[in-house]
Amino acid sequence: MKRSQSSFCALLCFLALSCTHGSAPSNMPQAQPRKEASDDPFELIIDDITPFIQKGYRTAERTPDDIDIIVIHSNNFLGVDSFSTEGCLQQFEAANVSPHYMITREGIVIQMVKEKDIAWHAGESILPGTDRRALNASSIGIEIVNTQSEEPTPHQYKALLELCQQLTQKWGIRYIVRHSDIAPDRKTDPWLLDWDQFEHDLKERVSEDLLFPRR
Ligand SMILES: [Zn+2]
Repeated sequence: MKRSQSSFCALLCFLALSCTHGSAPSNMPQAQPRKEASDDPFELIIDDITPFIQKGYRTAERTPDDIDIIVIHSNNFLGVDSFSTEGCLQQFEAANVSPHYMITREGIVIQMVKEKDIAWHAGESILPGTDRRALNASSIGIEIVNTQSEEPTPHQYKALLELCQQLTQKWGIRYIVRHSDIAPDRKTDPWLLDWDQFEHDLKERVSEDLLFPRR
């Protein structure tokens, strides 16, 4: 079994276990793998597990008028396997936070919160060059699974580019920022992501008008 398949099976097992612990409604739809990870670098694979995320966000009916920022993060499990999807999910739940999306080492995009809902990923924050604060309400959060010594994989990078392109075009995103740009006193993530290259690559795909305000 390929590692990606193995990881996904493990994720489903974790979710199945979570469901037996009572916090989820009994009529909850089951997550189904849409397809296996592929080597196609620009084929975005999104596994929607929204029904299983119970914490770390609040429901909202945001429209494109409400959302104009993407915030990029890094995250890893503080256990034996730094890249454990299950571990990351447990940590998010324990901390009562969540991104909208998490990108596994294999480049699989896991949706945790609906885009129209407000996820708690940015915390106390300010958009550089503005007085806009508390950016959860106006942003979509994406977590890359990596550590401060292990850079994002090529699959993650390509999935991040593709996801940002789709979100930018869907929501009319104007700003792309790192967590460290909006919370510089508290945060250093995303780690080991070549931000100059990423800015270049995303602008090339979407528009030179995209803004990358930095701290
Ligand atoms: Zn972060």
